[in-house]
Amino acid sequence: MKKALAFAAWLAVSTAASAASTTVTPDAVPDGPVARTFHVGALEVIALRDKVRTIPNDGKVFGAENGTAAVAAVLAEAGAATDHIDLSVDALLVKDGAKTILLDTGLGPAAQGLLLASLKQTSYTPEQITDVLITHVHGDHVGGLVTSDGTQAFAKAIVHISAPDWAWLQEQANMAALVKVISPQVVTFAPGDQVAPSIRSLSLKGHTPGHVGYQIVSGKARLLDVGDLVHNPILSLAKPGWIISFDKDRTQGATTRRAELAKLAADHEIIFAPHFPFPGIGTIKAVGDHFVWQPDN
Ligand SMILES: [Zn+2]
Repeated sequence: MKKALAFAAWLAVSTAASAASTTVTPDAVPDGPVARTFHVGALEVIALRDKVRTIPNDGKVFGAENGTAAVAAVLAEAGAATDHIDLSVDALLVKDGAKTILLDTGLGPAAQGLLLASLKQTSYTPEQITDVLITHVHGDHVGGLVTSDGTQAFAKAIVHISAPDWAWLQEQANMAALVKVISPQVVTFAPGDQVAPSIRSLSLKGHTPGHVGYQIVSGKARLLDVGDLVHNPILSLAKPGWIISFDKDRTQGATTRRAELAKLAADHEIIFAPHFPFPGIGTIKAVGDHFVWQPDN
């Protein structure tokens, strides 16, 4: 029943959005585990749903400077509901030669993350994951490294975390249990380093001390996992210069967002945005002083 209601709500929003001038759609797949396979050149890539989250439009995350009315006005112009903001949580699996690589791990079972259920819909098991690449150490990206029993979720994997983010994670008292479990698996790298045969990290300053994206390349095909450069396809692109409270260095975060979005639009780069509606794949289009999301499903 709950699912049917959620689906009906999605249909209603979807219809409203299609009538609006801006093409921003909510999650094209109803809530629940889901895996979608595609290819980047010769590489098999799978988008994995962890969770669909919404946060209230209360000025705590978006609109800390500009207020909730300004946030509501931007959402309304895109045909979206104005009382809440959608934030999906998704991850990627990349089969890179002998390596089976997970890019981020979602919230984890303790926070009702569904990543492992989504992984079950593929031909891969947690034991087959050889490497985990972390964009940054916020709970919605590293929470899934630990099972509900408090053990390593990907026991055979090397967990790659940028050196600045690993140092920062170890300073946080509320992350001590997770740090203890994953410590034997962690290998650090410098932002910008090559981290897998077909994947190079890209420094994206501001969100956390060592926040990175991951550039996946196969032949002439490319896909850039942008991590938390952006959070919502309406607000992050319509107002790239607005601060977001999730950024540790908010001024640097906004500066990075504006500069990188301009570059991504100019290069017609195909990106994966973990917090955009599943599967979060598409391109950025420049429109005047801002940007719009062009999902490619
Ligand atoms: Zn995040």
